[in-house]
Amino acid sequence: MVTAIVGANWGDEGKGKITDMLGEKSDIIVRFQGGSNAGHTIINDYGKFALHLLPSGVFYNHTTSVIGNGVALNIPYLFREVKEIEEKGVPAPKIKVSERAQILMPYHILFDQYEEERLGKASFGSTKSGIAPFYSDKYAKIGFQVSELFAEEETLREKIHRVAEQKNVILEHLYHKPALDEKELYNTLMEYKEMVAPYVCDVAAFLQNAIKEGKNILLEGQLGTLKDPDFGIYPMVTSSSTLASYGAIGAGIPPYEIKNIVCVVKAYSSAVGAGEFVSEIFGDEAEELRKRGGDAGEYGATTGRPRRMGWFDCVASKYGCRMQGATEVAFTVLDVLGYLDEIPVCVGYDIDGKVTKDFPTTVQLAKAKPVYEVLPGWKQDIRGIKNYEDLPENCKKYIEFVEKEIETPITMVSNGPGRNEIIRR
Ligand code: GDP
Repeated sequence: MVTAIVGANWGDEGKGKITDMLGEKSDIIVRFQGGSNAGHTIINDYGKFALHLLPSGVFYNHTTSVIGNGVALNIPYLFREVKEIEEKGVPAPKIKVSERAQILMPYHILFDQYEEERLGKASFGSTKSGIAPFYSDKYAKIGFQVSELFAEEETLREKIHRVAEQKNVILEHLYHKPALDEKELYNTLMEYKEMVAPYVCDVAAFLQNAIKEGKNILLEGQLGTLKDPDFGIYPMVTSSSTLASYGAIGAGIPPYEIKNIVCVVKAYSSAVGAGEFVSEIFGDEAEELRKRGGDAGEYGATTGRPRRMGWFDCVASKYGCRMQGATEVAFTVLDVLGYLDEIPVCVGYDIDGKVTKDFPTTVQLAKAKPVYEVLPGWKQDIRGIKNYEDLPENCKKYIEFVEKEIETPITMVSNGPGRNEIIRR
């Protein structure tokens, strides 16, 4: 059976923890999109880890970790991560990398930096991991697929020449930066070949066989609905689809095999990077929430940038769940709200004097003002509580209020960062 774990919001919802937790009963965990531009923070018996490319299941002995064809594969980065976890005492993970995954090249990172510099104030707030240039090249058909590392030398050199020819015009005339060296590119690719060779596999065939054998497969999404290039806050989005439906493409499995879609929804809002954020809060109020959030609140796992904070947004989260096709919701980081007397929740957007509960396109979104309903707080630390009935009354009311607004059943409530800090309903 295939389960997707995806985000409803702007990312950082706590997907890593949920994947790590559900990984216990899984055989295979697959990354199907994105790259090293976002991270999952995971706390377990081995310590605290910030994973960027490896799926969150690498900590189990019994799971196979898969990098699907939809991923932006930064090969040296992947191997640094493997080394790092091995150094901390985690048993060597079983890893498979799709032969159809494309390679994130060192120049993608440079182009990402150069473009952000060129845009100056109008920049996207990119993590500068090369993701946008990578996906642009993939669809412009000038990317390098892992399989091409194993092509004839001459074929590969010809392709490198074609790519460098085009890139060098832009480097010289638009960015005024040094040109790419074809020999160096070839050598880099040969180093990558050596690193990745032991792991290369026909991932689609591997996964389709595993499905036939009744294995449990998790698809682990990165970021969330609102960062999807089609359904998010375009253009302040990421460059690959963050939706569960893309899991079929980015892993190479039939779409109808994705039976469960666990949408991770955070009990308040936070976002990294630029873009519309209707329920954003500022000043002391934001600072307090950021501080209370600790690891969950303060800084992005990849960028180390302080996150932008906001109240829970029912409009964005309902849409976030709907576009994911959520079959259930894991509601996370609820423990952090325990300090508040009252908790505002955004239940509608006022756009030109008309209130809507439907998430609009970016142009409309820019005009939206939040309509809040204020719920009573519970003023209690809820960490350590194991049963739903034992939660404070107002806390249950908050959960049930959100559940009604987002129109998706909340089956899990996360009340702490640890693997076992979960309340099942
Ligand atoms: P992801 O990208 O969706 O995996 O999210 P991140 O891992 O970047 O951010 C989630 C952060 O919240 C991590 O630091 C987690 O350890 C932490 N976290 C996850 N669930 C909970 C929770 O229920 N309570 C608290 N306090 N922290 C949580």
